[in-house]
Parts: sequence; C-alpha cells; structure tokens
Amino acid sequence: MITPPVVRRNTPQRYRLEANKCAKCGKVFFPPRLVCDACRGRKFAPVTLADTGKVVACTVIRTPPTGFSDLSPYCMGIVELKGGTRIQCQIADCEPERVKIGLPVTLEFRRVQEDGESGVLAYAYKAVPAR
Ligand SMILES: [Zn+2]
Repeated sequence: MITPPVVRRNTPQRYRLEANKCAKCGKVFFPPRLVCDACRGRKFAPVTLADTGKVVACTVIRTPPTGFSDLSPYCMGIVELKGGTRIQCQIADCEPERVKIGLPVTLEFRRVQEDGESGVLAYAYKAVPAR
C-alpha cells in the first residue's frame, strides 16, 4: 500500500522521473541509490529520464493484489526508456493481450489507486502505447 509518507519520501523519482547518475562511471540508477553497484562510487548527479521507450517484458495480471481488483485484468511490464534505464510499471490504455515486446510507449502520470477508506489517491507513472 502506498501511504502519504512514502509518496512524499519518493517524490522526486515518483513525480519527476528523477534518477541519479554515478559521477565516476556514469551508470544511471532508478530509483536513485547511495552506492554505485558497478564501481562503489558514492557521488551522483541527478538526471531526468526520458518519458518514451519500449516494452522489454510484460505479463497479464488476472489475480490482482488487494486494492487493484478494479483494474483486473491488467498488464505489468518492464519498459526500457530512451537512454537505457528500465522501469517497472503498468501498461495502460491497451488490451493486455495486445501488449508485445518492442511496443513503443510513452509514460503518463496517472492515478494508481485509492488508499482504502481514507480515499487518499496515489499517483505514479503508467506506460501507454505511443500515439
Ligand atoms: Zn559507478
């Protein structure tokens, strides 16, 4: 469940596609990390990821976790953004069976779920077929 403190803590990456790039070797991390797993570097610079890319893996969710039953069936995938960074997200606005590896997509900021009875809305990026 995505709670408001988590949303606030993750705001840069969740709302602005902000990653960090290792100052020593150039590897990009999303979400940002404190230590580079390639060179053990600890200095990073913020970078904004591209909002376009292609599907590199996908699966159809027919038995969703609590809170996502109104979406079922839906497609979850791994999208490789221009620049090479991969992110996991829902692939929306498309029949799940039509999502294929290589499908060009654009990221859009959408409502993900409502947090139980409190009605707090959680937002994140979803990939939609490029138009
Ligand atoms: Zn590095």
